Amino acid sequence: MSRLTNVPKRKLTIVVVVCMLIALIAGIILVLGGNSRKLSIKLNGEKSLKVKAEQVYKDKGATATLGDGWFKFQDKEVSVKAKGHVDTHKAGVYEIIYTAKCGNKKVSTTRKVKVLYDDKEPPVITLDGGENITVYQNIGWNDSYTATDNRDGDITKKVKVSGKVNMKKPGTYKIKYSVSDSSENKTTVTRTVTVKEKLENVPTEKVIYLTFDDGPGPYTDKLLDILKKYNVKASFFVTNLRSDFQGDIAREAKEGHTVGVHSYSHDYKKIYASEQAYWDDFDAMENVIVAQTGQSTRLMRFPGGSSNMVSKFNRGVMGRLTAQADQKGYIYFDWNVSSGDAGGTTNSNVVYQNVINGVKSHNQSVVLCHDVKGYTVDAIEPIIVWGLQNGYSFEPLNEASFTAHHHVQN
Ligand SMILES: [Zn+2]
Repeated sequence: MSRLTNVPKRKLTIVVVVCMLIALIAGIILVLGGNSRKLSIKLNGEKSLKVKAEQVYKDKGATATLGDGWFKFQDKEVSVKAKGHVDTHKAGVYEIIYTAKCGNKKVSTTRKVKVLYDDKEPPVITLDGGENITVYQNIGWNDSYTATDNRDGDITKKVKVSGKVNMKKPGTYKIKYSVSDSSENKTTVTRTVTVKEKLENVPTEKVIYLTFDDGPGPYTDKLLDILKKYNVKASFFVTNLRSDFQGDIAREAKEGHTVGVHSYSHDYKKIYASEQAYWDDFDAMENVIVAQTGQSTRLMRFPGGSSNMVSKFNRGVMGRLTAQADQKGYIYFDWNVSSGDAGGTTNSNVVYQNVINGVKSHNQSVVLCHDVKGYTVDAIEPIIVWGLQNGYSFEPLNEASFTAHHHVQN
């Protein structure tokens, strides 16, 4: 009998042992599983999407979970931080980065949101010099234009230009400019360029005094060749910044141009530190001029002009220096037309436009240029051509000329 009752007892023991083993394994999984749990992140909604500008954009966020992928009941939601902002007022591609952290675990994911304008307005192309331009054979001409868009702003760099002008062959040429904005509105404009053979010289009372500061330098010879070609006389307020080009001062004087003193060092801090420092520097330059031309000069221009504020570290110095210049018998010149080449632009066509726009509003124009700038020298021939055609004469400054004085501010 005892053998019969023993059988179920043994079965029970086996069941108990198996149950204990399962409980043990489950316990191990639970304990070890805690460490091998993974932090994962998932975007709610699309990974990349487009929205129209000025519409409300509501971000759907992301969900992060800490879990082992086996026992879902153990999964834990972890908070997600979103970084990035979608500005629906401004077209562009925006990124939102979602990050979740748990202990030393960290995960992140990204969403791209493209904001598009509902824009029907095409960009505007402005051709410097206009849609019809006349240029002269073998005279340099730089094509210049800008493109702006109501939404994208300056998109000049995106302009595609087709067509060419053969400066050597008189005739009519067409150049096509086209550009598209970010909303794919396209603008195309055409410029007609007429290349003509020769110039007409119509002299009148209107006078242009071309003045060149800071030279001589590497471009001075080229400039003198251009002036010679048109028999135009100009004025040079010289420096010793490039002593290796000093010989050009002699050439300037020899070819009938006016040479005046600008500065030996052109060092604002140094020359405007005191009146003594100013006149020492001035005398040094005048000595160079005498050495090159055999003559002294009474014409001068202050570095920065008489209205400069670069000297403000020495209060009142310009008032004192302008008075002293008069006492010493010097005539200082400022200008009433600026080419803008001292920092405003590095583009020959802009220099050309600045000078022409300025000259148009004066009967006598003292034009400030710098012959140490190659792009300025490149603009001079077209300026001369325009001036001659429009009835201006080009004269060198002399002691009786219009001084175009500025208001002394320091
Ligand atoms: Zn200067």
